[in-house]
Amino acid sequence: MASKEGTDRRDDDEVCPVCKSSRYLNPNMRFLINPECYHKMCESCVDRIFSSGPSSCPVAGCRKTLRKNRFRKQTFEDIGVEREVDIRRRVMHILNRREEEFDSKRNYDDFLEQREEIIANLVLRIDVAKTEAQLQQYAQENMQSIRNNQALEEQEATSFQARMTLEQEEAQRRRQIARQEYESERRELHAGREDFLSRLASGTAADASAIAKEGHKVLLKKSSARRSEEDRIRQKQAALRGSETKRTGTPLTTADTAGTSSGLIKGLRKIKTPEPEKPYDPFMGLVPEKRDYYTLQQSYPSAYLDNLQKNTQVSAGGYNLQEYYSRTLLEAFAGLGCFVEEEVSRREAEKVSKPTATEGAAMAAVKEN
Ligand SMILES: [Zn+2]
Ligand SMILES: [Zn+2]
Repeated sequence: MASKEGTDRRDDDEVCPVCKSSRYLNPNMRFLINPECYHKMCESCVDRIFSSGPSSCPVAGCRKTLRKNRFRKQTFEDIGVEREVDIRRRVMHILNRREEEFDSKRNYDDFLEQREEIIANLVLRIDVAKTEAQLQQYAQENMQSIRNNQALEEQEATSFQARMTLEQEEAQRRRQIARQEYESERRELHAGREDFLSRLASGTAADASAIAKEGHKVLLKKSSARRSEEDRIRQKQAALRGSETKRTGTPLTTADTAGTSSGLIKGLRKIKTPEPEKPYDPFMGLVPEKRDYYTLQQSYPSAYLDNLQKNTQVSAGGYNLQEYYSRTLLEAFAGLGCFVEEEVSRREAEKVSKPTATEGAAMAAVKEN
């Protein structure tokens, strides 16, 4: 980005194409652009022309209708770059699929290429109407996924920011510790040297070499102890950093199933919605009251049972006629599912095969012995 002074000097000889006033006459003049047509004009022109509502662009040959609230300051010196950045931002905002939403890396790359193509078409004004229609359709069909991904992006940006601040603080702390260490080292060295000198001064000439050797040893010991301490701190910090990066892994997204309907983006991962869970069935599909050969009726005509039913002495004791019906019918139909011949023949067949097996085993056992 150009420096503040540089921009000012460049704007000095700029003239508003609408009112022809220049910065030379009006040093506080600010230029604004509207992303509708990117024609530049001064702030006072914008106030004058668009304050009473939307109006058409005053630049000759431009018939775009502009609104005041969309005017803004220019970020880039080149208006073409400004326009491309705007278009890119808008398209990226809509086509914000993430890599984990695609079947393969190849499909994701195709999507990126397709997005670049769309941006290029809009920037170079090729098939603008068709591309815009596609974009609008996609945006409508994938509203939910677009919103989800935007939220994710924001979340990532904030967590990245937080991580950056944390790292900066960490680095600052490390620098401070290093400075303190350096200071203390210097102080110790100084003190050691003074001590050494004073001992030399007070001692005899014979002690001199011994004192010198000892002083050197003490200094060495101190510095090595400090170094191991530093290593320990450094290792601890590295471990901390490792756990930080592990914790802030990228979260996986969920997306809506409508992604494939417009057909704009291909290769999106199919999202399977899990089947709704069936209610719990304790009998595993068995209906306790269901019988294969009959259905239990509410009542059966019988002179004897009808009399019993009317008798309060019987019903007071808790006698339930339904129980009686159920049991009687079960007993009556009990043998219907059994086919004695089949069962017997199966049993006979088992009898034939079994002895051979046991015989074989017996023979093997005998052989082994
Ligand atoms: Zn003007
Ligand atoms: Zn214009």
